[in-house]
Amino acid sequence: MTTIAPPAHGPGRVRSADELRALAEEAAVRFADATADEVLAWAAETFGSHLVVACSMAADTVVPHLTARHLPGVDVLFLQTGYHFPETIGTRDALAHAVDVRIVEALPALTVAEQDAEYGPRLHERDPQSCCAMRKVEPINRELASYEAWVTGVRREDNALRAGTGIVEWDAAHQMVKINPVAAWSTDEVMAYAATHGVPVNLLLDEGYPSIGCAPCTRPVAPGEDPRSGRWAGFAKTECGLHTDQQDEGTPVTAIQTA
Ligand code: SF4
Repeated sequence: MTTIAPPAHGPGRVRSADELRALAEEAAVRFADATADEVLAWAAETFGSHLVVACSMAADTVVPHLTARHLPGVDVLFLQTGYHFPETIGTRDALAHAVDVRIVEALPALTVAEQDAEYGPRLHERDPQSCCAMRKVEPINRELASYEAWVTGVRREDNALRAGTGIVEWDAAHQMVKINPVAAWSTDEVMAYAATHGVPVNLLLDEGYPSIGCAPCTRPVAPGEDPRSGRWAGFAKTECGLHTDQQDEGTPVTAIQTA
């Protein structure tokens, strides 16, 4: 089957990779202990429309809200894998209604039906790494290539792989600046911000899903369990490859990370 991937939404890049890397390295020092507002004010002024926010529509909806305070109408990238919970789609729609952002959907080259026809049904049950590569990693890589910097909801308390997350980082995998404004926030701080500012969050958070991805690959976790242990249960895989260059099941190769 010949497939043509959908075009990316971003404005393209103006700065070179060397210029972006220099910006990231200087900002990583300058904003090492910065608040979310401080770093996002800099990001909005520095990158403008070349900035995009990635959001999985869980509790990380606070990040588009934080960013839109400094950059109204900012692009918010949502990976439309075709396998989301209805609650996740509902959160996407509620966010678009409540916050001044432009939701842009990163679409895989193949629909679920086309993927089933080419690779067999329920690829996620047999080879989740390949399924994630086609439905998450390739689409977000394509989209990110049309921006200079991205903002994520990655937090240090997510899991051990994310414990060293900086507020600003050089994302070598995508050759762009990566900003993690809530890296140091606790879950309680995130939820308090959402409640205070009326930011919609995913209803599944209250039903035992602290980390929410595609429906077939996400289960609720018991109190005290690793928040990400409900992802790809039964596989060594713990990351989809967006924030860690995890090419082999359970083997982190470098450091990148949203959903
Ligand atoms: Fe496929 Fe599961 Fe990855 Fe979603 S999380 S892209 S369904 S393997």
